Amino acid sequence: MEKQWHGKKVLVLGAAKSGIAAATYLHHAGADVTINTGNIPPEDEQEKIQALGIQSVFNEHPLALLNETEVIVKNPGIPYQIPLLQEAMSRHIPIYTEVELAYLATEAEFVAITGSNGKTTTTTLVYELLKGGERPVHLAGNIGFPAIEVASQAKAGDLIVIELSSFQLMGIESFHPRSAALLNLSEAHLDYHGDFDAYADAKGNLFRRMTNADQIVVKVTDPEVMKRVPGEIEPTTFSFDRGDASVVDGWVTVRGEKIMPVNELALGGAHNVENVLAALLLVEPFAIPRTHIERVLRNFGGVAHRTESLGDVLGRAVYNDSKATNNVAAEAALRGFDAPIVWLCGGLERGADLSSLAPALSNVKAVVAYGETKERFKELGESRQIPSFTVETLADAVPLAFEQSETGDVILLSPACASWDQFKTFEERGEQFVQLVRSYEEANR
Ligand code: ADP
Repeated sequence: MEKQWHGKKVLVLGAAKSGIAAATYLHHAGADVTINTGNIPPEDEQEKIQALGIQSVFNEHPLALLNETEVIVKNPGIPYQIPLLQEAMSRHIPIYTEVELAYLATEAEFVAITGSNGKTTTTTLVYELLKGGERPVHLAGNIGFPAIEVASQAKAGDLIVIELSSFQLMGIESFHPRSAALLNLSEAHLDYHGDFDAYADAKGNLFRRMTNADQIVVKVTDPEVMKRVPGEIEPTTFSFDRGDASVVDGWVTVRGEKIMPVNELALGGAHNVENVLAALLLVEPFAIPRTHIERVLRNFGGVAHRTESLGDVLGRAVYNDSKATNNVAAEAALRGFDAPIVWLCGGLERGADLSSLAPALSNVKAVVAYGETKERFKELGESRQIPSFTVETLADAVPLAFEQSETGDVILLSPACASWDQFKTFEERGEQFVQLVRSYEEANR
């Protein structure tokens, strides 16, 4: 596998974790590697690059770099519109992301997950399920280690579970997973892709090499997803209401076999039930023992900040969904509960139209809004005759949410906004929420 890189002139675009991992792999495989970044990388990254002994060009993307380049491996975040990549395309220089490199580096098989929402949750769940099987399993990509690092250590017969973004899927050619899911499609990253079809087609790229011998998992009730299934393929389908995996009489059911009552799943929310259905189909080819599946489904409460259950807090079911940074994600969380919800929302103002959220508010009994968008969320709540409040910060919002709720209610942080007006990251926002809830619990026990 490594042989193909011997003596090849490869330009790695972008440093960071995955760029450095790619450059390291290629250098050891005998390629002639240059790493190029549009900025000046932090000192620790520069040190790693220096230690490798490869050529580097920082702070600009000179076109002359292309004169010697046979292949480009690019960081998924770098847009194709930059002049260097435009020129590379006109010269027909192949442009890959690290995923393609990872695929070429190993005999292990891939289980791949993409979609607009639910990727991390489903990927982590699939990883937990596959651990109960016979084959060694690794987690790669956004969560876990850079794909190329994992792939270069994995052995034939191993499985690699990988979460893939639309950006990563634009740079693949031979990548051919054994089992793969396109969970759902809604508008996202249009600034990068230009329009919805370009974004959705990038996601659909996942299936391009797959055949009917593979497992192609799709949400049958999502027409945009179904459009991306190649014509000759018989997909395996899921959705809450129908498909090879669905909910029948309150049970998670796969091809007629009842697996577990929905209310015994550790994961909360209807959107997560769909993630469970997709995960069960993704692992179907790998003969996982039923007892292991049940154990995982009973215990896997989700990944931190994704409708993560904080358990019963003073009689309320509290959820941290800080990762919900857009309308679609928040809407899924809001629709996921039957009990009355006190909803904590708001954050960075990006001018998004909030009206699509209105129909999802039928179980919301109070809106507690904070951050830059607070007034607009208050108006949204009031348009549905829901008592709605504005406060400055999350620290003010948490006690108010407890005051507005009673035993049996849900308290849900699902901000529908990015966190950057008041926090560094959505993780920091979620962690602060968990701390505030725990302190309130302590003080009011
Ligand atoms: P991703 O990795 O695609 O961003 P995550 O698993 O991190 O997805 O979940 C992000 C947010 O998206 C969650 O907090 C939840 O609100 C929402 N979400 C999760 N699964 C789904 C789904 N299947 N459909 C719609 N929204 C979902």
